Amino acid sequence: MPKVGNNAKEITKGLFLNEDPEKLFTDLREIGHGSFGAVYFARKASTKEVFALKKMVVTGKQAEERFEDIKKEVKILKCLKHDNIVKFECCYLRDHVVWLAMEYCLGSAFDILEVHKKSLQEDEIRAICAGALNALVYLHFELGAIHRDVKAGNVLLAVGGVVKLADFGSASLVNRASSFIGTPYWMAPEVITSMDEMLYDCKADVWSLGITCIELAEKKPPLFHMNSMAAMYHIAQSDSPKLCEARSKWSEGFNGFVESCLIKDATNRPTSKELLNDPFISDRRDSDSVVLMQLIERTKEAVRQLDQHYRMRKILINDH
Ligand code: ADP
Ligand code: MG
Repeated sequence: MPKVGNNAKEITKGLFLNEDPEKLFTDLREIGHGSFGAVYFARKASTKEVFALKKMVVTGKQAEERFEDIKKEVKILKCLKHDNIVKFECCYLRDHVVWLAMEYCLGSAFDILEVHKKSLQEDEIRAICAGALNALVYLHFELGAIHRDVKAGNVLLAVGGVVKLADFGSASLVNRASSFIGTPYWMAPEVITSMDEMLYDCKADVWSLGITCIELAEKKPPLFHMNSMAAMYHIAQSDSPKLCEARSKWSEGFNGFVESCLIKDATNRPTSKELLNDPFISDRRDSDSVVLMQLIERTKEAVRQLDQHYRMRKILINDH
């Protein structure tokens, strides 16, 4: 059995607390599911404060490797301090289970797409994109890190209409990487073609942001009808994707922004910082938080009306 879970050394190193989260938190309700296990809404018994708890079980075949990945995710989260990045609270390790406590958000941009079953409006996409871009600029230029899994499912919305980039399970703290990591459909061509000698950098996140824009505009990323191997082949071999209905539905600014993010050759692709000056981001009219608060209200209303959105009932959990 791998020595994971009761590892006193890790606890004393300050990465994990040893208290029992099942006693510290009450009212646990599942609000998300991932590769690792589940994410819960929870209330701290002592203060009644609300948190999200990501529960990761570390047993089985690849437990040791898995534990190393979790430690990396926690280390990265601890370094991050930005309004547009989900705030880390603390982390517990008990009996082969890691509990990551973080700021509670209402749901991801992907969850919102699922409720409405149609594309978001351009001003909503713009606001989500601007928030995610601010997080990326911080990550790329202040920390020299790469997220490596930017997609609507990892962009959360918090109360007050604030965008929060989440899920640092794939992130790299070095700004040049060679590992083959991410979710196929959102992967940059240079990540797919990167072998050990061909490194990629933070511009891979810019590509994924462009794909996320298409996802929010069309409900799915390009090539989603293909299996992931075929999709990766196409990403590497074909011309960059564009917004469908490019001219008829979306502004020139939005088309131009997506086109810039999806410049195939990473050396010519703008950095996240350069994209802050793109007219689509810099020429804002309404306040982003107002646009996003309206989107949250619109989503809550749709969830209240329709029972089938059981999974998104979570967006109403904290309403009184
Ligand atoms: P994975 O690595 O498995 O993708 P994530 O960290 O992305 O795990 O979490 C999975 C899902 O759980 C998210 O897509 C989201 O719906 C939900 N979730 C994650 N973190 C939070 C949070 N802080 N607040 C609310 N929901 C969250
Ligand atoms: Mg995720």
